[in-house]
Amino acid sequence: MSIEKEKVAISACIFGYPFRFDGKDKKNKEILDNLSKKYILIPICPEVLSGLSVPRKPCSVKGNVIFENESGEDKTHYFIKGAKRGLKILKSLGIKKVFLKEKSPSCGVNFVHFYIDKNSTQIKEGKGIFTKILIEEGFEVEGIE
Ligand code: SF4
Repeated sequence: MSIEKEKVAISACIFGYPFRFDGKDKKNKEILDNLSKKYILIPICPEVLSGLSVPRKPCSVKGNVIFENESGEDKTHYFIKGAKRGLKILKSLGIKKVFLKEKSPSCGVNFVHFYIDKNSTQIKEGKGIFTKILIEEGFEVEGIE
């Protein structure tokens, strides 16, 4: 009798979809091979779900606000919309555990690109908006590169 693997979600760019702001992916075959021995992997991208385009201008986090780097424009509403849509999908699939790409303003778990001003960002400890919402909702979240 075979035991069914647990379904977990993973950042779509790590899975291999070219959904990053620069239109590229961050596929990590080693991580995918390891995780897929234990889990069924479901890709999810809150920024694509937000309605933002691919490619798009890079954004970074400051507190609970997401700024577009070059313009300093507040894009938080997009990120919240995408995170809520992602949450709904994960709940509907009965997923409880999620592997997310570090440093993203949506998916960062331990580190994010922190907005300093229009001309500069820094990598600092922090969480992306999607991660924060998932943790509040009781999901187990792990950061991956
Ligand atoms: Fe990858 Fe998350 Fe950024 Fe989407 S929002 S491209 S899944 S890091």
